[in-house]
Amino acid sequence: MPDIAIVGAGISGLHLALRLQQAGLTTTVYAERSAEEVAAGRPLSLPVWFGRTRQRERELGVAHWDGPDNQVRGVNFVGPAGSGVGFYGDFDEPASGVDLRIYLPRLTADYLERGGRVEVLRPEVAEIDRVSRDHDLVVAASGRAATTGLFPRDPDRSPYTVPQRALTAGLFHGIASVDPSFVHFQVTEVGEVFSTRLVTSDGPVHGMVVEALPGSPFEQLASYDHMADPAGFEKTLLGLLTVHAPELRERITDGEFAIRRPGDVIQGGITPTVRQGWTTLPSGRVALALGDAWVLNDPLTGQGANLGSACAFEMAELIVAGGPFDAGFAEQVAERLWRLAEPVVAWSNMHLGPPPEHLNGLLAAATADPRVAHAFIPNFNHPAAMWDTIKSPEATRSWLDTVTTSA
Ligand SMILES: Cc1cc2nc3c(=O)[nH]c(=O)nc-3n(C[C@H](O)[C@H](O)[C@H](O)COP(=O)(O)OP(=O)(O)OC[C@H]3O[C@@H](n4cnc5c(N)ncnc54)[C@H](O)[C@@H]3O)c2cc1C
Repeated sequence: MPDIAIVGAGISGLHLALRLQQAGLTTTVYAERSAEEVAAGRPLSLPVWFGRTRQRERELGVAHWDGPDNQVRGVNFVGPAGSGVGFYGDFDEPASGVDLRIYLPRLTADYLERGGRVEVLRPEVAEIDRVSRDHDLVVAASGRAATTGLFPRDPDRSPYTVPQRALTAGLFHGIASVDPSFVHFQVTEVGEVFSTRLVTSDGPVHGMVVEALPGSPFEQLASYDHMADPAGFEKTLLGLLTVHAPELRERITDGEFAIRRPGDVIQGGITPTVRQGWTTLPSGRVALALGDAWVLNDPLTGQGANLGSACAFEMAELIVAGGPFDAGFAEQVAERLWRLAEPVVAWSNMHLGPPPEHLNGLLAAATADPRVAHAFIPNFNHPAAMWDTIKSPEATRSWLDTVTTSA
């Protein structure tokens, strides 16, 4: 049986490890931080995952947050002020959001309880080579920062060289829940705001992500020292929501709005990047890239964790089918995984630029006709169908025709 090293214990690495474990393969997960350190640390991101990722959790036997209280039913889309665009659409299956600080330690425990091995170490590029000598294959699922030296950027698939948004995300008290729970997705003239309820170690809490266009008033949030001045940060955020996202502001209670715990804020920017999917190490072993280490998207479309999980399953299937784990195998994996990633990358990158006319037309049609809204929103769970819907004016027209004539 092949012996696989997985570097990185994020959702991508752990879904791969658990899947290979189910197939009876020997795996070792190399993690930069222990599960205890992850649990006690700063928020890593605020991901919502869609129905197909939840289905994979069930297949892995790790659907610990599958109860009715943790179901996000759809998206409430609000267009820019004056656009008249706004609609609600149901997902085809409920989504959910779980703070990674409880999610990743729990999945690590599942993996260990089933006989998995986790080693805490910080293998830099040279160490990945060392690790590879003890295994048949290495998968680098080490996130967005760690493997830049190992997997060069693919310029043909990476149109951006700098972040297109300044990101501020956090967990907040004081945002009223809605029943059923949905993602509030607001497009403004200065960026986007989305918010939904997530499961945390304190129970359900609202997460909010603000995506600031460069030079916009939202941008100040991404560099605001919230640790030194949390009250000032909260006041500034509320002031900006009052002006730019009044629908969400209405659900916030003055006097109760606060960062959930000191430090529960993420700030920064992401340069959407596709890297080469594999490399040959000095040891002669092949290393495959997975998750954010391979394809990094702006979180605007909420796809990174979903894609990491989908690719983990696809990669596991190819590994289980057998080696030799050589360059030919690596190329085959990279091709298969790109079929999953390409629509996500194309869709996410389209949303970072000015919206094309046909997309605006689709959003107007969803506002006017709930059948369109309820057909469009499930595409968040099906990125290939999403891209087929929006990739060109012709595609959108044909999709709209189908939706409005078949329903
Ligand atoms: C604000 C925000 C909101 C988001 N919202 C969504 C969303 O709604 N839906 C969605 O699907 N995605 C979302 N994402 C993206 C999603 O969080 C990521 O795509 C996903 O978590 C990536 O998982 P990963 O396992 O590939 O990488 P990571 O989560 O980065 O995990 C990599 C792991 O490897 C470890 N590591 C790094 N270097 C080494 C090393 N040398 N050795 C060993 N270990 C190492 C790291 O410590 C880390 O634990 C969002 C991201 C952000 C920032």
